[in-house]
Amino acid sequence: MNNWGIPDWLEKEVRERDRTCVYCDIQLIERMPPRGPRKAVATREHIINDQSIVSRENIARCCVACNSSKGTKKLSDWIQSSYCRKRGITKDMVAELVKDALRVDA
Ligand SMILES: [Zn+2]
Repeated sequence: MNNWGIPDWLEKEVRERDRTCVYCDIQLIERMPPRGPRKAVATREHIINDQSIVSRENIARCCVACNSSKGTKKLSDWIQSSYCRKRGITKDMVAELVKDALRVDA
């Protein structure tokens, strides 16, 4: 278990699944670089902003930029934000698990 209450097996599974940001599809990097852009550093994300949902469907990895833009916004609202519009992030290009969450969260 880590401090998110995520069991190790799930942490590992998500790490291996999400090599790119589940939102913008940028190649994720594992550690803060000593210099240079940090926006591609991998962060953990609850797709639906509910800390109690710890499942392979709700825990994902996304980049720093998407994570800080999304914040506590509802997924279906955020996907229509200017951040997403500018980057071409739409409900049709996000990772499958995000599409599934959008169907539920609509
Ligand atoms: Zn991203």
